Amino acid sequence: MQQWNGWGDATVSVDLSVKAHTLLRELLGQGNVRADYPLEKYIDRIPASRLPHHPLISTHPKKRLDHSHGQSLSDWIGLRGGILQRFPDGVALPVTLEDVTEILDFSKKHNIVIIPFGGGTSVVGHLQVPEENRPVLSLSLKGLNRLIELNPANLLATFESGVLGLELERQLMAKGFTLGHYPQSFEFSSLGGWVVTRSSGQQSSHYGSIEQLFAGGELITPGGLLRIPPFPGSAAGPDLRHLVLGSEGRMGVLTRVLVRISKIPEKDDVYGIFFPSWDHGRDAVRALAEMGIPYSMIRLSNSAETMTNLTLVGQEKQVALLKRYLRLRGIPDTKACMCLIGFTGTRRLVKTARRESFSILHQHKGVYVGKAMGEAWKKNRFRAPYLRNTLWDNGYAVDTVETAVTWDKVTPTLKAIENVIEGSLAPWNEKIHVFSHLSHIYSTGSSIYSTFIFRLADTPEETLERWKTIKKAVSQTIVKAGGTISHQHGVGVDHKPYLEAEKGSIGIGILKQLFAHTDPEKRMNPSKLLS
Ligand SMILES: Cc1cc2nc3c(=O)[nH]c(=O)nc-3n(C[C@H](O)[C@H](O)[C@H](O)COP(=O)(O)OP(=O)(O)OC[C@H]3O[C@@H](n4cnc5c(N)ncnc54)[C@H](O)[C@@H]3O)c2cc1C
Repeated sequence: MQQWNGWGDATVSVDLSVKAHTLLRELLGQGNVRADYPLEKYIDRIPASRLPHHPLISTHPKKRLDHSHGQSLSDWIGLRGGILQRFPDGVALPVTLEDVTEILDFSKKHNIVIIPFGGGTSVVGHLQVPEENRPVLSLSLKGLNRLIELNPANLLATFESGVLGLELERQLMAKGFTLGHYPQSFEFSSLGGWVVTRSSGQQSSHYGSIEQLFAGGELITPGGLLRIPPFPGSAAGPDLRHLVLGSEGRMGVLTRVLVRISKIPEKDDVYGIFFPSWDHGRDAVRALAEMGIPYSMIRLSNSAETMTNLTLVGQEKQVALLKRYLRLRGIPDTKACMCLIGFTGTRRLVKTARRESFSILHQHKGVYVGKAMGEAWKKNRFRAPYLRNTLWDNGYAVDTVETAVTWDKVTPTLKAIENVIEGSLAPWNEKIHVFSHLSHIYSTGSSIYSTFIFRLADTPEETLERWKTIKKAVSQTIVKAGGTISHQHGVGVDHKPYLEAEKGSIGIGILKQLFAHTDPEKRMNPSKLLS
């Protein structure tokens, strides 16, 4: 069962070691543990629904609460602090594609606003219920989770859009195939959500991001059906797939999705390397990208992230051994930068790619520490988000920001992001612990992903105010540095004020016209992405 006011499966928990508690106390002070707002109080507070009756729509208060938010930190503060104010009037639960059409017709007839709901893992406010005079309906796609067709000759699979990552891979793997799209939210996010938020998976360097994997499909818009055939390539004008990618529910409901699949690879290995400094690591991973080495993933942590991860999730004895080994190899633990590198494919290809890569990493003073670290990462890669629950329960909030910039800007932007975050709570005399990594590495540049932890305030209103202060300062810094406001999380409401800086007024105008064409009454997820 999913946790109603936190991340993931309610039966899974990740503990913090004594060392981790000590580290947090030293960095930030004793956590400010706050009691959670009880579920029963929410249930009592949910107002009467404004929707007319429909057999496919539930107006049950718990269902409405569960569909009133995503997983952003501001969603959490609202939910756990009891200050969430708006809830959808009902939740539509279609189980066939015809049901979706039926719901859209019903919504048109009664002037109802629709928020498509995939896995509910948005971290930028995509699912917030807007202030509306019209009734608001959350349209859950969870009942649409079937594999419709698998075509091995064309390496294409057609799914209903609500299928969650785990179930999608289970269905493909049973037939010897994989999509290979692994965002960290993989277990709980949906195929449709991935497409319309332009999501990136951890092994995107091998399989491609969702924009490469999304081959076509069907989108039901209030204005009619948009069908996109899965051409292997086409020069017939602008590619309509790219209008759907990143549309964030504004154009319509994506119902069927065709994806490009691969055979299950013979090898899928991850290795751990340590560098004596950030510059060594950055130059090494840039060199790999420049040379076109076929790695499947790279994650280069700065020294702050390396230290934090080893303390928060590492086994104490093994970490001590590792540090001793690194010191022997001339890498002091205060400067060490951890790099995970993965190779995926046939045995021969993986062998060649690994040999070539290791030779380059070695030239940049990389020290290989064996396979165990990579194996441990693979095994636990979807457990890290559970730390959000543990940290909150111990009085700390955690959030992330991400962008992508060209190589000349990578280090200055990363430093500017960390500096501005670190100083953001100075007016409150509070500290923030921030650390970063590069994960999606391109020949032209890289994504930057920063995580920050700070103490909860005494009231949820105050915690929200602090979060808003950090978010605004860091978003402005990203724009000023010339980065995109999002490499993978999308725009939602949190990044909306910064979109025009990168699209320009003509770009914003084109998008407005597009949404006005497919949804003239502005009933599809209004106020997200664009005003
Ligand atoms: C712990 C954690 C880790 C994460 N890691 C990653 C990561 O590694 N990479 C990454 O890219 N993102 C990551 N995310 C962000 C999030 O998982 C992605 O944005 C994901 O693509 C959202 O998918 P979803 O199914 O949960 O969509 P939802 O959150 O349900 O919806 C997101 C948006 O898509 C719209 N939508 C959903 N389904 C449809 C549909 N069928 N038709 C039309 N509109 C639809 C919604 O209306 C909304 O606007 C992470 C989030 C969390 C909480």
